[in-house]
Amino acid sequence: MAHTVEVPQYEVRGEVRLDPARTVLVVVDMQNDFVKEGGSLLVPDAEGTIPAIRGLLDGARLAGTKVVFTQDTHTEGDPEWDIWPEHAREGSWGWKIVDELAPREDELVIRKVRYDAFYGTHLDHFLRLWNTKTVVVCGTVANICVHYTAASAALRWYDVVIPKDATSALDPFDLESSLRQTAFLFNGTITTTGAVRLEEENPEAYRSKMEEAARDG
Ligand code: ZN
Repeated sequence: MAHTVEVPQYEVRGEVRLDPARTVLVVVDMQNDFVKEGGSLLVPDAEGTIPAIRGLLDGARLAGTKVVFTQDTHTEGDPEWDIWPEHAREGSWGWKIVDELAPREDELVIRKVRYDAFYGTHLDHFLRLWNTKTVVVCGTVANICVHYTAASAALRWYDVVIPKDATSALDPFDLESSLRQTAFLFNGTITTTGAVRLEEENPEAYRSKMEEAARDG
């Protein structure tokens, strides 16, 4: 039976300045099965996070910050389908990343088989190659693949930032408990999309570049 607990206070930071050259934006599992009507493991709140993630993506691309997409990928007989309904079958519509957040040709897509995007993948290799200090993690599901990927990054001593409006869970409890864990256990930074500043050395130049991009649509 459900019972009420209070979420211990964690800070939601008002402004987070990050070095664009040493930050990587990780967009987790924004695939049709999780995000779109008709998906086999739909997270109802996920579609509503697309504009926030889009904003992070635009900001990162403009600032020259590397972007990584993770793509949950399963094949016949995968034991994850004993835990969850069949989802993210390789090659299927549900497996594809949503059109609104389609990766560019030059952006890394990590096909992952478990919640943790580091497990059995090349992710850490590339983060090290790029001299990464901070990973900004967004996408879905907050307490599953976002959480285990952020946790795994923190265990490797990357700084972790999660903009809470750019992630989603099946239940508000799951979302809050996962953010509290990231803040409390990993000294992660919880913030909002609008507070993330990928500032170049000259913040004025960055700002005018952003304004210019907004004008050009
Ligand atoms: Zn899966």
